[in-house]
Amino acid sequence: MSQTDRLQAALNACPRLPLAHLPTPLEPLQRLSTALDGPEILVKRDDCTGLGLGGNKTRKLEFLMAEARTQAADTIITTGGIQSNHVRQTAAAAAKLGLACELVLTRVVPWGGPDYELIGNIQLDRLFGAKTHLHDGDTDRGAAMAALAERLQAKGRKPFAIPTGGSNATGALGYAAAALELREQLQAQDRTITAVVHASSSGGTQAGLTAGLAAVDPSVQVIGIDVDAHPAAVEGEVRRLAREVWDRLEPGGQLPEDSVRLEPGYAGDAYGLPTTEMRDAISLCAKLEGLLLDPVYSGKAMAGLIGMIRAGRFSQDDTIVFLHTGGTPALFPYREALVDQ
Ligand SMILES: *Cc1c(COP(=O)(O)O)cnc(C)c1O
Repeated sequence: MSQTDRLQAALNACPRLPLAHLPTPLEPLQRLSTALDGPEILVKRDDCTGLGLGGNKTRKLEFLMAEARTQAADTIITTGGIQSNHVRQTAAAAAKLGLACELVLTRVVPWGGPDYELIGNIQLDRLFGAKTHLHDGDTDRGAAMAALAERLQAKGRKPFAIPTGGSNATGALGYAAAALELREQLQAQDRTITAVVHASSSGGTQAGLTAGLAAVDPSVQVIGIDVDAHPAAVEGEVRRLAREVWDRLEPGGQLPEDSVRLEPGYAGDAYGLPTTEMRDAISLCAKLEGLLLDPVYSGKAMAGLIGMIRAGRFSQDDTIVFLHTGGTPALFPYREALVDQ
């Protein structure tokens, strides 16, 4: 059996609930590629996963929610910032599956106008019927979730806790599966690519993609753009999770040591704080392609791709896939940072 077949068989054996619209489109960004005078750029539209305005967390939730169901949970608990896309997609998934949902939201971003705690993702969390618990930015999320779980258990509920970003080995399986999906699309379009570039934060997306592509298409580089302003910590987490995914799926051989690539320099001062390069990237993609990016993740990731192209990291013969991980509901609470006159 080839590594691809082994990976596919191992993934097929993992419990999974269908939540996402798959496969997501893989489309050329022709006008952007021309404007940058660099490699050909394709976009993998994981902002279009369909559930509750979509995004990368829906792929992870297909595996995480299956685990919750196996454990007969009746309530999903998860955590994130006030404008967390992961939290919003989890609230939507819980609603769709008929489960209660309680959210530990922390004020981690030292920025935000009056709209920040009312519109965008948090507005949608509440619309999906989830209960929001707001905490200070320095709150220990794990401890707050454990305390919440205890309170729910005391009332006879069966909570299932999902970590920040859905990033554990189970969630990351969603992106090992996405690697197979991408490979199939590239084969169907008769293309070979040099790299996949995307925003990396809690690490599950990059870990799953890295493990998956190392098994099925090892010539493709997976380049995570740090959006946390903590590249060493993100890289460590991606490496740890990628090894865990590899051990779980056992495609054969070893995960190559050099397969984890984290690009620093595009996060700005902190997670969630706007940068000029992010604004420019959002504006460029909107005006050239009618494509919406977001201020926290995909805008900074595109700024990273543009920065790498301008630095000559890729040639005109290369083809790069930009993985659009979603996040567009945050365009609204961040409007003060994005006015473009
Ligand atoms: C969560 C998120 C990411 C980062 O994915 P991780 O798996 O947490 O590294 C990127 N983009 C968007 C829009 C996200 O919501």
